[in-house]
Amino acid sequence: MSELKYIIFSDLDGTLLDHYSYSADEALSTLTHLKSLNIPVVLNTSKTFAETEIIQKDLELGTPFIIENGAAVCIPKVVFTEQPDDTVELGNYWVKSFSLPRKYWLKLLGQQSTSFKGMYKGFSQMSVEEISSLTGLSAEQATRASEREYGEPLQWLGSDESKNIFIKNLEAQGANVLQGGRFMHVCGHCDKGQALNWLVSQYRQHYQQHDVLTIALGDSFNDIKMLEAADIAVQIRSHTNEFPVLANVEHKTIIQTEHFGPKGWADAINDILST
Ligand SMILES: [Mg+2]
Repeated sequence: MSELKYIIFSDLDGTLLDHYSYSADEALSTLTHLKSLNIPVVLNTSKTFAETEIIQKDLELGTPFIIENGAAVCIPKVVFTEQPDDTVELGNYWVKSFSLPRKYWLKLLGQQSTSFKGMYKGFSQMSVEEISSLTGLSAEQATRASEREYGEPLQWLGSDESKNIFIKNLEAQGANVLQGGRFMHVCGHCDKGQALNWLVSQYRQHYQQHDVLTIALGDSFNDIKMLEAADIAVQIRSHTNEFPVLANVEHKTIIQTEHFGPKGWADAINDILST
């Protein structure tokens, strides 16, 4: 029987990174162990290319990463021997995009601005200082966070009732609205699950005769599609929400962690690898 190849897909904020400190310290020894086993850890996040690339390099992953809630998959050219179909070359990466550009969604949001005046504020309307204070990011990190290419994060300031109408309006006009731990993301119909599936198909070609088993870890509602797409779904305990309900997962393994963030992450991966 051929050797089983694991691929791990992980959200960042509240999952591999602590919700408050943005630190992955409690998962570092597990990440080192995964590296020694040649198990790729693919970051799958709502963050931008600029933000994710730095974290991917800090953690010395050397793996592909998925940005802006599945809007694009960025594959370092060293990962696969050939350029995957339907990708474009951008610097040191092959990039597969799943969404229209940010300017399209900003235009759509602009059409909502009269009816929902004062009820929300998007990143494009915020200064770097405002993004810093909302997120706890440094000015440099907040600048990277603001460099979005495919969608617009916004802070909701109105009632839940208005929010539901706002979301329905945007969805009726073709937008996809995702709730993250801190922000609502207005973007195209891409999601972390679709991007996972596409990248897994590239890995299957790369691994050829090996069976592939996917593990996804996430804490919030924008992780649902990723968790549903994986063979093993790990729901990380969150400070901001209950475990989101997953659908169509009757035949899959679902783990709900006891601990929050990176501690829960490490516990779950260590348990899976030891069974
Ligand atoms: Mg999260």
